[in-house]
Amino acid sequence: MDRDRFRDVLIATLPAGTVELDPDVIDAFSRDESAFCAPGRPWALVRPTGTEQVAATVRVCAEHGVPIVPRGAGTGVAGGAVAGDGCVILCVTRMNRIVDIDTSNLLAVVEPGVLNAELCAAAAEHGLWYPPDPASRDICSIGGNVATNAGGLCCVKYGVTREYVLGLEVVLADGSVVEVGRRTVKGVAGYDLTALFVGSEGTLGIVTRVTLRLRPPPPPAVTLTAFFDSLPEAGRAISAITAMTTPSLLEIMDATTVAAVEDWKRMDLDTGAAALILAQSDNGTGAQLDAIAAAARSAGATFVAETDDPDAGEQLLTARRLAYPALARLGTAIMNDVCVPLGSVAAAVTAIAERTQRHGVRVGTFGHAGDGNLHPTIVFDRTDPDSASRGEAAYHAMTEAALDLGGTITGEHGVGLLKRPHLARELGKGALGLHAAVKAALDPEGILNPGKIFDL
Ligand SMILES: Cc1cc2nc3c(=O)[nH]c(=O)nc-3n(C[C@H](O)[C@H](O)[C@H](O)COP(=O)(O)OP(=O)(O)OC[C@H]3O[C@@H](n4cnc5c(N)ncnc54)[C@H](O)[C@@H]3O)c2cc1C
Repeated sequence: MDRDRFRDVLIATLPAGTVELDPDVIDAFSRDESAFCAPGRPWALVRPTGTEQVAATVRVCAEHGVPIVPRGAGTGVAGGAVAGDGCVILCVTRMNRIVDIDTSNLLAVVEPGVLNAELCAAAAEHGLWYPPDPASRDICSIGGNVATNAGGLCCVKYGVTREYVLGLEVVLADGSVVEVGRRTVKGVAGYDLTALFVGSEGTLGIVTRVTLRLRPPPPPAVTLTAFFDSLPEAGRAISAITAMTTPSLLEIMDATTVAAVEDWKRMDLDTGAAALILAQSDNGTGAQLDAIAAAARSAGATFVAETDDPDAGEQLLTARRLAYPALARLGTAIMNDVCVPLGSVAAAVTAIAERTQRHGVRVGTFGHAGDGNLHPTIVFDRTDPDSASRGEAAYHAMTEAALDLGGTITGEHGVGLLKRPHLARELGKGALGLHAAVKAALDPEGILNPGKIFDL
């Protein structure tokens, strides 16, 4: 296919200002927050303002056999939005309308480019709450959250994005538009196609509208911090807590992460401890937090503090949300996203430390440990090939460690490009074959985000 001829057709098909050809602008939209994934040279960037423009773009691409890389805000860390050679980047951030907040049916209908925090704010204006709260909520889009099945801090009690997506409008690989799902709380008519698209990382269709479940907000939370002399002790505390109760938040941060946050923002965290856990209870009684404190002490906590001051609680959550950007100030950071069974958190932090030490890299571990979800983040020097290659080796070694413990290679960020080498081991031959069949049924020519999740 001739690039210039294809560009002419695309420009003639779409309204003026929708197609961007400036190589510098295209390059800026070719990457995400991942490392080790070099982008190629895409042919065009398309920035549609509505579903029909998405459909028209897909039709032109399908006719000419040109691959499409869908994209939201580009905060993904698995390389899912990294664009290769000769593709069209389809960035939906201009589709950013909150179409409806339906207070009687507890629903929101939004376009994919709406930021997570914008939806939360709009729901709050109506006295409602959208729970999934990635630490990146101020900068990531709902479309990206749907495509990666994003999690977050409060998901330990309230569930991840999939639990909140009731219906979707999706543009398929031939440019046709389909609606899946429902507006009711329950519903089991037919296959759960909505769930199939959630977490499909742009490989099965382009999400152009989302119907989401909202909830009444929970009571104000009380917050606990517990400090430990070793990271495995903090891991054991996490397992002890989740075995007896479900807090509304349960996070872990190691000393490297705490020091990085403190060096940057001075938030009065104890930098002498090897690890801290952060827990919240929003069930309106003090009993749950007392039980969590007792479990933390039994696991070896050296100091436990509780607060019912919402501002102090929010300050601690802010410290946790700053974990990745704080580590990213120290060099090039790549955040992993492994998830292990709830009883294996201590074993996981131990295995991650051992395997990364072997590669001589610096790692800060934090994460949604109450879900068994850890984000060991490697800091390396991208200008030093040896440092970059040790960083990459450590990234894959810790991913394999999660599988060794019966866990998964990704709890919430997706497979993208980075985790592809590990997918076959996790899924096994049968499930991988089913994936291939689904992909072939929905995208027979393989034009939607090719090479992501698996290389078929
Ligand atoms: C500081 C930081 C903290 C983070 N914390 C969390 C966290 O707590 N929890 C968490 O889950 N993630 C977290 N992330 C990762 C990231 O923010 C999420 O994966 C987020 O859901 C990506 O949204 P996005 O709009 O940036 O998507 P992109 O990065 O633009 O895209 C991600 C994937 O979705 C696909 N996609 C995007 N939009 C569409 C669409 N409309 N239709 C079809 N496919 C689409 C892309 O092709 C790609 O495969 C964090 C990232 C950073 C940088």
